[in-house]
Amino acid sequence: MNPSRRLIIAIDGPAGAGKSTIAAKLARQLGYINLESGAMYRALALKAIEHDLALDDEAALVKLAHGSAITLEPTRTGNRVLLDGHDVSQRVREADVTDAASKVSVHPGVREWMVARQRELGAGGGIVMEGRDIGTKVFPDADLKIFLDAHPDIREKRRLLQQQISGPLAEQVAAELRQRDQRDRTRANSPLAPAADAIVLDSTDMGEEEVLVRIDEHIQKKLRGH
Ligand code: C5P
Repeated sequence: MNPSRRLIIAIDGPAGAGKSTIAAKLARQLGYINLESGAMYRALALKAIEHDLALDDEAALVKLAHGSAITLEPTRTGNRVLLDGHDVSQRVREADVTDAASKVSVHPGVREWMVARQRELGAGGGIVMEGRDIGTKVFPDADLKIFLDAHPDIREKRRLLQQQISGPLAEQVAAELRQRDQRDRTRANSPLAPAADAIVLDSTDMGEEEVLVRIDEHIQKKLRGH
């Protein structure tokens, strides 16, 4: 057993499957850093909104990305997101940025820029990176790949609970989640899908602790060299 080996762990899956919570807890348990790759797409989307750029203008978005400094700082409660030195952690979670993030992420040129940054961030290992294409594209040789899924109804419920949304707004938020899911799964470039060697965990009927125990079993196997 070589517990000092610092693994690269990829966690992919759709919105509301519990990736962020699981990735943060796992990273804390292991003493690893946790990086939310989606926050980088969100930061670029925010900048595009601020610059009034059309979200289908790939060349302009790529140019914008090249002139941007997007930094993730892991904290106990998630990633602090810095865009050109400004803390935008709260702003990037708002609905307009969430929607714009999935629109900017369809462009191959944008993804290429993101993937290069993400590889740099994770190169040293000791990392839990979560997103949509971490196991398929960013780290195809990751030590462990988890694809965390859950029934769409459950994912919607969790998301509404997490954002404390109820009443008439709930249906709108749920519809946006479904739309975003559809866009992420059907885009031509790096669509959301499990890597061939990913472990698919369906958390529909599983609590957080159970998911963590299941992932930990796989990590222990990896550290023992299986
Ligand atoms: O994970 P999060 O919900 O913050 O991601 C926001 C959006 O960024 C997703 O809907 C997806 O379109 C995009 N994304 C991506 N690839 C990733 C992470 C996020 O395309 N690795």
